[in-house]
Amino acid sequence: MSRTKFIFVTGGVSSSLGKGITASALGKLLQARGFKVALQKLDPYINVNSGMLNPYEQGECFVTEDGYEADMDLGHYERFLGIRTNRNCNVTTGRIYQSVIQKERRGDFLGKTVQVVPHITDEIKRCIKQMANGDCDFVITEIGGTVGDIESHPFIESVRQLRWNMPDDCLCIHLTYVPYLAASKELKTKPTQHSVKTLLEAGVQPDVLVLRTEHKLGKELKRKVALFCNVNESSVIEAIDLPSVYDAPLKLHEEGLDLVVLKKFGFSSFHEPDLDDWRKFTNKLKRASNVVRIGLVGKYVESPDAYKSIGEALVHAATCNDCRLELSLFQADQMNEENVARKLQGLDAILLAPGFGQRGEEGKVVAAKYARLKNIPFLGIGLGMQCAVVEFARNVVGFFDAESKEMNPDTEHPIFDLMVDEKSNLETEGTMRLGAYDCQLKAGSLAQRMYGTDVVRERHRHRYEFNNKYKEMFEKAGMSFTGINPQSGLVEIVELPHLRWYVGTQFHPEFNSTVLTPHPLFMGFVKAALESRDDN
Ligand code: GLN
Repeated sequence: MSRTKFIFVTGGVSSSLGKGITASALGKLLQARGFKVALQKLDPYINVNSGMLNPYEQGECFVTEDGYEADMDLGHYERFLGIRTNRNCNVTTGRIYQSVIQKERRGDFLGKTVQVVPHITDEIKRCIKQMANGDCDFVITEIGGTVGDIESHPFIESVRQLRWNMPDDCLCIHLTYVPYLAASKELKTKPTQHSVKTLLEAGVQPDVLVLRTEHKLGKELKRKVALFCNVNESSVIEAIDLPSVYDAPLKLHEEGLDLVVLKKFGFSSFHEPDLDDWRKFTNKLKRASNVVRIGLVGKYVESPDAYKSIGEALVHAATCNDCRLELSLFQADQMNEENVARKLQGLDAILLAPGFGQRGEEGKVVAAKYARLKNIPFLGIGLGMQCAVVEFARNVVGFFDAESKEMNPDTEHPIFDLMVDEKSNLETEGTMRLGAYDCQLKAGSLAQRMYGTDVVRERHRHRYEFNNKYKEMFEKAGMSFTGINPQSGLVEIVELPHLRWYVGTQFHPEFNSTVLTPHPLFMGFVKAALESRDDN
């Protein structure tokens, strides 16, 4: 293929319709046909990245290997396509303005008045085009927000300009919602018509409409939408609610989405998609009846997307272990010595979630103690690992006031601290250790056996590090430090080898789990959960 093709995914009627899943599913289908695909998300908010956003706002903060704090949709892209994203794959309005303002201060605009059109839109177009990167067949760019929003206007305007400049290389897929009115037993197309009108007002005619719905749409309805919205009937694609997001590529393929896209771009010959492995996974997901019960203790459990990648990594691992995940979420700040046994009883494994700040820390410490004393398979991630080590410090080593400095800056035993010296040779953004770092695994350790290799690279997002001056003492007390950053000596993995399966990671293994390559630690964790259940 000669030139990169650009596909834009916009949304109308409502947010949360699944633009990210639609973009990922289409990307998967094109990739399965042998094309090279890149995905990108443009976010209309003014935040420069997702780093400062609390998880109640936009869900989890996904971290790319190059250390960018990104929108969680990048997680879908990686999980569906098995690709690695980077900082170019997620651009916010804040970043666009930051870059344009920097250029203005440098005098790059030679005294011109700097305006939304053309300066902001030029910068947006530059960010989209740079994704092509020479060898990419398709770039799929998801535009966050809903058409008609004030803040997404410059993005839609940039799409209009790109289509005007490169009519044969651009395509717009618009995702809308067809509500079902129970009282009149009718599906309604008016919201779709209006949202397409809004897009048309901005100068963009959608080429393909993907209609989210809870009920089958029927030919007549598709015909009506096609007529009102100036698209072919074959370009009106039904996206019915599915039991799993991983069914989306198969369902959208049945509906002909990838075929319509290829035909619109004028392709005449192409491979059938190879979806065998994907189908195997979704069949396993459907068939699994053996249940594995995992409890997640965290601070943001009321927000369903706050631990998205962890939830998905557990689904990947459970499915590949031929079982169905039953995930129970527990509010960390409501857990204490009195109620922990009642709350966590009957679970096959316990996962302590990452996080920031004091709220819920003591609850996590209590949960870690329960898992340790009951020998329940345990995985602590980020702050979850730190709480497990603090628990061990207090109850096994005997430092009753052991703490992370994040929680108590005046503690006599700062088990986790800012390690400025050791970190000086590591790349950091501010004081945060971000992105992928090497981790050397200890020969014969559980981690090394799980990974089946000696050095791994995993992604980090934290400020505090295990304080190495306590290492020897902790080792004597029975804790094993089985993953170390070879450049800085920082602790990345801890284990309690005398227990069944007890692992804490300073990094976030969940970001490296994909549908077709579940993460080895999650695989081991789920397997241990199943074994422990069968033994009890
Ligand atoms: N708040 C902790 C730190 O900054 C842990 C962060 C995390 O869970 N990744 O070190």
